[in-house]
Amino acid sequence: MTAEKRTFQAEVSKLLKIVANSLYSEREVFLRELISNASDACDKLRYLALTKPELTTGDGEFKIKIAADKEAKTLTLSDNGIGMSAEELADNLGTIARSGTEAFVSNLSGDEKKDASLIGQFGVGFYSAFMIADKVEVLTRRAGEEKAHLWTSDGLGEYTIADAEKANRGTIITMHLKDDALEFLEEARLQHIVKRYSDHIPVPILFISGDEEKPLNEASALWTRAKSEISDEQYKEFYHHAAHAFDDPWLTLHWKAEGVIEYNSLLYVPTERPFDLFHPDRKNRVKLYVKRVFITDDCEGLVPEYLRFLRGVIDCEDLPLNVSRELLQRNPVLQKISSAVTKRVLSELTKKAEKEPEEYAKFWDAFGPVMKEGLYSDSGEHKEALLSLVRFKTTESDKLVSLKDYAERMKEGQEAIYYIIGESPEALLNSPHLEGFKAKGVEVLLLSDPIDDFWIQAMFGGYEGKPFKSITRGAADLDAVKGGEEDKEEDAKKDDEAKKEAGAEIAPLIASLKLALGDTVKDVRESKRLTDSPVCLIADEGDMDINLERLLRQHKQLEKATPRVLEINAKHAVIKTLAKRVKAGKTGQELEDAAYLLLDQARIMEGEAVPDPKAFARRLALAMERGLAV
Ligand code: ADP
Ligand code: MG
Repeated sequence: MTAEKRTFQAEVSKLLKIVANSLYSEREVFLRELISNASDACDKLRYLALTKPELTTGDGEFKIKIAADKEAKTLTLSDNGIGMSAEELADNLGTIARSGTEAFVSNLSGDEKKDASLIGQFGVGFYSAFMIADKVEVLTRRAGEEKAHLWTSDGLGEYTIADAEKANRGTIITMHLKDDALEFLEEARLQHIVKRYSDHIPVPILFISGDEEKPLNEASALWTRAKSEISDEQYKEFYHHAAHAFDDPWLTLHWKAEGVIEYNSLLYVPTERPFDLFHPDRKNRVKLYVKRVFITDDCEGLVPEYLRFLRGVIDCEDLPLNVSRELLQRNPVLQKISSAVTKRVLSELTKKAEKEPEEYAKFWDAFGPVMKEGLYSDSGEHKEALLSLVRFKTTESDKLVSLKDYAERMKEGQEAIYYIIGESPEALLNSPHLEGFKAKGVEVLLLSDPIDDFWIQAMFGGYEGKPFKSITRGAADLDAVKGGEEDKEEDAKKDDEAKKEAGAEIAPLIASLKLALGDTVKDVRESKRLTDSPVCLIADEGDMDINLERLLRQHKQLEKATPRVLEINAKHAVIKTLAKRVKAGKTGQELEDAAYLLLDQARIMEGEAVPDPKAFARRLALAMERGLAV
């Protein structure tokens, strides 16, 4: 095969332009990126060699070497990791690779100067070599293969891949430095950069000059070192490396478990929500090591799914090294580690929530919806901890509220924890269902995550014996609840009398409305939850909550809507007028029109479409005509 010319994927070309023109001060991160790749390549081969030891015979010690040639103005970085086949070369270096690079591209603003400063934070993986080089050659041979391949590019728009010779496995990257980047030939400069960004890399990084090999890094796995020997900076760098992430960790947890099961754990909670958190095949990203050997970074069951935002490393002593990835999940040691790690993480989160509620609120914003999955997926072991960690927006507070706070604020006579579910807290605050609760000062949880419908159905035990109750389903039992401005004793008495009086009149109206609406509603009832609005729709006790049903219909899991109960507010002027008309025997077409107008109004308040807009418009026009008549 002769050298074959290929063009970069369009995004790569764009990216390379920015990289090539990047800010001077950010350029040194190219070394971090290349070392990170070399170390990943060593990890991958070390794992493969567990089952195919012949892949590393004769060369079992992994190394990353850096050499500088001042005459040729080249900087060379080589590793004896897994290497790449011709196909892998084209796939990995001609297209936007995973993680970092992809995230970077999706953050591009189009302003080259601004974008260039992103490089420092993000790194752009392999392509960052073009910040300091105007030509890059990658000579690589995949472990176990005879053929080697040479990838060459000037980073402008094309690259070539040609057959080549290489004595042993691994990858050599040769960078022909730009004239303004010759500083990267200086040993001291390189030493400094490695110390700063790559000291935690467990593979030795050696500087080669003549026959001498000088180590540039500590070369011991960071998580095995004592906490006191690790700086914040080092913890952060390791997070960036292990998580392929570029934010700073929100929480860093480093501990060593000794006793029945021994493991080392260095875990991070990110500050920002990783972009694939809700991806259908989202995975656990905590890396599993066994006795310092990298095993996998998608070990199912290592941490529960509701903690899948965790990043970092768990290194354990008690698993067999050659355990297959498939069998891992059922391994009892792994299950014990998982349970211990979960307990520890939840307890650290609890501490943080108590000590720094504002910081915790940021965490909850980013990862609350994921944590809630635990409320129904957890078998019970961690449920109590999870319940103490959930936070809510509510009608009575502009800060996030815990269930404990809620329970402490419950009104005398209040038996349940009330909630309402809908699109967004803002939309929910306008819901007519809340009126009676607001008037009495009874706090209602505002739920708007898609997951909320599901976990709350599974909370049979409630919280500390108090059941959760939807305020859009079943009767509102607010009579027993004391409190609220409106409810001073005298008012209450008056209220009762007024209701009695109204109730006497309301029965015939209810009967007529039922007759007019027929099957479109399940029932018509007097409401105890409305104060300002004339009507609202609720789900009957035992029926599905309105929001859940809407969700299922949107996802085509449910065909037909269940008829709702229409609640009417006996104190509302419109209802009073209608009641009087019915009493006076006026129950013809006008009442039927009014019934449907009320129902449609309730639907609109619910955020639902009116099923027959034409009929709605006609009735509304008629009503206006009558109302406006002179
Ligand atoms: P990322 O590391 O986020 O995947 P990079 O741009 O840094 O993105 O690297 C792209 C891919 O190229 C890597 O995922 C890896 O498959 C491959 N690669 C890069 N450097 C090496 C190397 N030294 N040895 C083997 N494969 C490598
Ligand atoms: Mg990389």
